[in-house]
Order: sequence, then structure tokens, then C-alpha cells
Amino acid sequence: MNWIMNNHRFNKGSAAARNLLNTYGFESLLDFPLDLFAHGLGATVVEKPLLNSDGRIISGQKHTIIEINENIEFEEKKRFTLAHEIGHLILHKGLDVHNDNEATTSWFNNKEKQAKNGKIEYEANQFASELLIPSHLFHEKQKGKKFSPDLLKELATFFKVSITSITFKYFELGDHPICLFHSHNKSVSYWKWPEGYPHYIIDRTKLEPPEDSVAMEFFEKGKIYPKQFSKQQIWKSTWFELKDWEDDNDFNFFEYCIISSTYNSVLSVVWEE
Ligand SMILES: [Zn+2]
Repeated sequence: MNWIMNNHRFNKGSAAARNLLNTYGFESLLDFPLDLFAHGLGATVVEKPLLNSDGRIISGQKHTIIEINENIEFEEKKRFTLAHEIGHLILHKGLDVHNDNEATTSWFNNKEKQAKNGKIEYEANQFASELLIPSHLFHEKQKGKKFSPDLLKELATFFKVSITSITFKYFELGDHPICLFHSHNKSVSYWKWPEGYPHYIIDRTKLEPPEDSVAMEFFEKGKIYPKQFSKQQIWKSTWFELKDWEDDNDFNFFEYCIISSTYNSVLSVVWEE
């Protein structure tokens, strides 16, 4: 069962973002300042230094203030954090003061924490994703294009979002099936594969990434491939089960690693051509 696919179609967060764009007649917010958009919805956006927090929302009786950490290094991440806070503004009226950090705005933690606080964070992230990358526009932009790391980069630039955000969107809505493996501190934390994917993924939860994976090259040798070599050929058996009657030479699998040195984590994008 592919939970994100199901959640995407009936997801409260994405539905609310689509609804909001439709209500105000925006096809997208690519050419409209996000802080002005938030202002139109009744929130004042302030950029200032925040301690241990990427963003926060403070809801009062009359005014709502959204604070964004001015020290966030990447503009894309600031944008995503603001969109996440707008999600709380629209979806979660009861929040008095709510803090967001790497854990709450990250795609990787939500599944584990969904039982606890995760649900509202998951909704806010889905909201942010749809607000910044409207599905119909995304689908149009990737249609007919061959999947590659370059395509992800091109789409991320167009939508002004991080490569990680665009990769998750591509997983949900892209034309070519891709699998995602997330490893942190040399241990695989989780993976996703598209519904009906024909290859079986070997269970590695909390185990090391495969010896011959590109992810492992980073953990063992600190290897980060330059842009033009970011697509690396791997064996099918690297991440998938190879059946007795199958030959590794008959498959064409690739791995592209999105590396965050700061968090010592790797998102492996794996696909077959
Ligand atoms: Zn949040």
C-alpha cells in the first residue's frame, strides 16, 4: 500500500492549498511574493533571528504573526517554511504558538511521528508542497521529459523549491516511477516505492545502506559526485531482491544521491531505464 499516493489524492493539506489558490484566482504563486500572500490572509510575516527554530506562528485574537528565521541559508527553505506556516494558519486555527524546525518541516520524520504531533505537520507540509508546486502545473512541466537528476534540478529551479521537495513531488506525480531511500548516519531510515512497482525492495530498516550503493560511498568515503556524474549506474541487486532466474546484467538501474552533509543524511533516488 502506497500511503503517500493515497494520502495525496484525499489529502486535507493539498486540498486546502488548491482550494486557496482557486479562491484567489492564482494559477501559482511563482510570480507573487509569498509574504504578501500571507498578509492577505491576515498574517504579518517577520524575518528575524530565531533560536532552534526555522519558523513559528503566533496566533492572537486579532493578529497572527509568522516569524521566519532570517539565518536560514537557502531561500527555497525559507519559502517552504513560510508556506508551511501558512498551512497552519489555514488548517489549524487552534494553535497558539507553534514552532517549526528541521524535524517538523522535513519530509523524513513525518511518518514516524504521525501518531503523535505528526499529523498536523504532515498536513502543513502537504499544504506547502501544493501551494508552491501546484500539481497540475507540475504535471505539465515534467510531461514528456526523460527522468534525470537534471530534470529534478530544472523543476526545482522553476518552482523555487529545494531538490528534496521537488523529488517528493516527482515521486507522487512524475511520469517515470522512482523509488526513494533515506539514510541517516549510515543507517536506512525508510523508503518508498510507487504502487505496483515490479521489483521487491530488501528490508533494511535501521541497517546500513547496501555496500555497493552510492549512498554508502558517501558514508564510507565521503564521496559526493559532481553534477555531471550525479547519475550513477548500479545493480538491480544493490537495492532490490534479485530472483534466482534473473541476471543483474539484464537491468539498467541508476542511483542519484541528494546529500545533506550537515545532517549526515542521504536521499537516494533509484530508478530503472
Ligand atoms: Zn509546523
